Amino acid sequence: MKLVLIGCPGAGKGTQAKKLSKHYGIAHISTGDLLREQMKQGTELGKKVSEIMNAGGLVSDEIVSAMLAERIKADDCKNGYILDGYPRNVSQAEGLDAITGPLDKVVCIDVDDNIIVDRMTGRRGCPKCGSMYHIKYNPPKQDGVCDACGEALIQRKDDNEETVSKRIQVYLDETKPLADYYSKVGIIADIDGQQSIDKVFNDIVSALESK
Ligand code: ADP
Ligand code: ZN
Repeated sequence: MKLVLIGCPGAGKGTQAKKLSKHYGIAHISTGDLLREQMKQGTELGKKVSEIMNAGGLVSDEIVSAMLAERIKADDCKNGYILDGYPRNVSQAEGLDAITGPLDKVVCIDVDDNIIVDRMTGRRGCPKCGSMYHIKYNPPKQDGVCDACGEALIQRKDDNEETVSKRIQVYLDETKPLADYYSKVGIIADIDGQQSIDKVFNDIVSALESK
């Protein structure tokens, strides 16, 4: 199964992708995480993208698509994968089929802008195992500590109010037309993201199984 998750930053793509990955035994590929990994390792690519990303911008199509083509060759992708954060715009979408072949479904998670800021500024993640939390909506059992592995949780540099507004604007300008594009292709499933995490998950599974 090959899926794409689209939606505003903070809509819940990462949260749902992790659950879907477990449920279907397919890889969760976050191009944002792949890029952040490069930055952490201080590679040439990492240095180039860190400046752009910390300012809330988008990395060039060439860089991301080359990185993605490499990633889907890995063993954990043999049953399929979920792309989280890619494609970001129509031009990336047009190039995607050449990398992945036809997609099964594009899941679009809808959430109002005003709720997004609250979600993003409260987001915390585990730098060791990748688990995601929210200080209000999905808190860890112990404040600031990962339930899964005990590591101290961190906040992403770009999850501050100023950058979040910028990222929402980038989304509205560039990513929103994607929904229209995939509607025309006829593989989109629109999901109400303003429900509990479990309810959103159930709606996605129903949409995937109702083909
Ligand atoms: P994205 O990957 O789309 O940027 P995330 O999955 O990281 O979004 O979610 C952003 C924040 O909102 C996280 O802190 C997450 O725990 C929280 N969150 C995700 N889904 C929901 C939901 N349905 N209700 C409340 N909070 C949510
Ligand atoms: Zn952890």
